[in-house]
Amino acid sequence: MADVRTTTLPDAKTAPEAPPSPVHVTIRREDYRPPEWLVPEIALKFALGIEKTRVQSKLSVERNPDSADKSNVLRLNGDGLTPAGVWIDGSPCDNWSMDGGDLLLELPGDRHEIGIDVEINPAANTKLMGLYASNGMLCTQCEAEGFRRITFFPDRPDVLSKYRVRMEGDASRFPVLLSNGNRVAAGEAGDGAHWAEWHDPFPKPSYLFALVAGDLKPNRDTFTTLSGRKVDLAIWVREVDLPKTQHAMDSLKLAMAWDEKVYGREYDLDQFNIVAVTDFNMGAMENKSLNIFNSAYVLADQDTATDADFDNIARVVAHEYFHNWSGDRVTCRDWFQLSLKEGFTVFRDQSFSADVGSPPVKRIEDVRVLRAVQFPEDQGPLAHPVRPDSYMEISNFYTATVYNKGAEVIRMFHTVLGPENFRKGTDLYFDRNDGRAATCDDFVAALEDGSGVDLQPFKIWYSQAGTPKVRARIEHDAEAKIATLHLEQHVDPTPGQPDKQPMPIPLRTALVGSETGHEICPERLIILDQARQSVTFENVTEPPLLSINRNFSAPIIVEAVRSPGELERLAQADTDPFARYEAMQELMMRALVAGARGEEVDREPVIRAIGATLRSNSLDPAFKADAILLPSDSLIADRMDVVDPDAIHAVREQLRSAIGSELHDELVAAHRSDGAAGDDLSPSAKGVRRLRTVALGFVAAADQAEAAELAKAQFDRADSMTDRQGALGVLVSTDTPQRQAALNAFYDRFHDDPLVLDKWFALQAASQRPDTVDRVLELSRHFDFVITNPNRLRSLAGTFGANHWAFHSADGRGYAFLADMIIAADKLNPQVAARLVPPFGRWRRFEPKRAAMMRQQLERIAATPGLSKDVYEQVTKSLA
Ligand SMILES: [Zn+2]
Repeated sequence: MADVRTTTLPDAKTAPEAPPSPVHVTIRREDYRPPEWLVPEIALKFALGIEKTRVQSKLSVERNPDSADKSNVLRLNGDGLTPAGVWIDGSPCDNWSMDGGDLLLELPGDRHEIGIDVEINPAANTKLMGLYASNGMLCTQCEAEGFRRITFFPDRPDVLSKYRVRMEGDASRFPVLLSNGNRVAAGEAGDGAHWAEWHDPFPKPSYLFALVAGDLKPNRDTFTTLSGRKVDLAIWVREVDLPKTQHAMDSLKLAMAWDEKVYGREYDLDQFNIVAVTDFNMGAMENKSLNIFNSAYVLADQDTATDADFDNIARVVAHEYFHNWSGDRVTCRDWFQLSLKEGFTVFRDQSFSADVGSPPVKRIEDVRVLRAVQFPEDQGPLAHPVRPDSYMEISNFYTATVYNKGAEVIRMFHTVLGPENFRKGTDLYFDRNDGRAATCDDFVAALEDGSGVDLQPFKIWYSQAGTPKVRARIEHDAEAKIATLHLEQHVDPTPGQPDKQPMPIPLRTALVGSETGHEICPERLIILDQARQSVTFENVTEPPLLSINRNFSAPIIVEAVRSPGELERLAQADTDPFARYEAMQELMMRALVAGARGEEVDREPVIRAIGATLRSNSLDPAFKADAILLPSDSLIADRMDVVDPDAIHAVREQLRSAIGSELHDELVAAHRSDGAAGDDLSPSAKGVRRLRTVALGFVAAADQAEAAELAKAQFDRADSMTDRQGALGVLVSTDTPQRQAALNAFYDRFHDDPLVLDKWFALQAASQRPDTVDRVLELSRHFDFVITNPNRLRSLAGTFGANHWAFHSADGRGYAFLADMIIAADKLNPQVAARLVPPFGRWRRFEPKRAAMMRQQLERIAATPGLSKDVYEQVTKSLA
């Protein structure tokens, strides 16, 4: 990069001294202005090389009639680029200047053709944004602002262009050349080179541009759409990985059919390509017709992938495919509207996964993720609304709030409108906004106009941060047979939002008879939209049990007045599976929080409820596994005013141990239950495998020696990665000879498979042994630890940051380790480094000694010279 800069600045005399780059500028939503210039068409020519790629671009630019600004300066965003040549309407231009990384051109008229040449070095691109090299191939990642690292362009999502892309490169090194749209021409270029030209007829923003060049082989298939269009599908991978692509292909076809059936959305081009890449910052990317994937979300077979991996592949393949409409055909006006495409698309992929699997189990999983990742975000210094008001670095806002809480907001619309009206609204949304860059307000307007229902009050869910807390208490008048439900809502202050307004909260609610266990008042939808509100139920013939926020109808925290006995009864009798799960969780949580506070704990209701769940003949194994799992250390911490990680860990282990010994026989029986061959991927087989391992975990808490024998047997005869990883996951937290033997066997067998080796790192980083910090430090010096590979970094440092007890080790070495990792990773890949910061964010809630050590590490990171704005933003907000 540096040599490009010094040797190709032909007109430096005209370029003013570049001001310091605007690294710490805050961008605000209220400052949005329509683009001054539009680029209806762009032609790109790539002369590809791993270390030197030449990019020639031709932009047709014209004034935007909708822009009030009439300046004659065209600003083209750039990041680390130097123009090697600039042309206006075919004539060389030397009247350009730089502003930070951006190129400024003065244009005399309203319509011009701009030509720009640049050279880039993909091999030196460790940020993995823009065009970069991975495993001998070239690929791109442009969302959110990577395109400006490839060429100069108005790199904002509301500038939509038709792309024509020509690539030329060495035919033996890059036999496959892919870009968006359809391949329109290809040929030989002499000297062993070849070329291909691609043309995408759909206008798109620059963040959806993609290019891939490499030695890849396809798994090919076809899909015939609703209207009879035959689409060629291909999943491109290294030849050795071809046998692992069938599940992704099957998932793609299921997703295409599902989107036609449920949303009436049909695919719109003749080709659809997926490419798997080893080094990738995110999960996958929805570039128009050329989805680029982290290989972890493509490659799977029974031997190397767990049931969860298979589910994640189906989910992510569907997610990226669904973006073709919710993201590509209708895109975002600005990055503050990110949830417009992400919240909606996550909701769509959640519904898809529920339809092809088990809806209650899927709902429990989604809520578990929300509580583990999004609720802490809402309660900490990084809290922000679903539609943020400002950012320094947009990459930091690819958060659980924008994605998962955003999906919950869409789900509330779906709940309030009902499926038919919701569909009318989404049809109108796609019709109205096709080919446009839209806003969250446009989405709500279409739902309202399509359904005829006023949704204005719900828009506060986009603007107000924080998780609402709802207090609920039921009062029964036995004589009048009337029950009154008293509700109260409250949202804690969040950064920049000290005073909160009441929010409309849809609560699916029913009453269950405490004597008969029958549903005495059927489910109804209550909209709580006042600070305080009371609702009456009639004909309540026996003392009622409150079943509220059924199926998690709103993303809130419910604090309901219910005794342990009532929760135990609901855990058995509630007709809503989610509410049953929730009753169990609440029962466990109360015991654990009391224990962590040093209060007396009555474990018996918890143990009885788990026993009854295990013995039930009507519940399926997957649900049992979810229902008996104790809340994690960090979820318990979220309920404490002052967090003491050792106390939390101790009380949780004691409860696990008590369950393990009192329910020993039931747990061993659940562990031994069979009927799940390794190649059986049905929901019931997955459930059996999941329960097998969850049960084993409880046995281990009571008797490590016995559990280690069972686990080693499961490990040795495993016919799936699920059983193998499950057994190893139990063993890594024990102090037994089987532990190291299994770790070694796993490494010996799989060390050549990077995705499986990631599991080996992650399992050890998640271990609940007292020496986890030592082990993780050793692993960070391991031959196979590669800090430049985002998957490997996340498997060790990311997993460790989420290991509550180990990360918060009383000597502070966990904090020092993660801070070292962040500082080291930031020099290479700021985006991935910044995602490791959040575990430090909640330092204020910890006991004083730990709080001081966490703060000290944040200050140490903040003081590091040359810190990226990605990490700077996360760290300074955490300290504020
Ligand atoms: Zn997405």
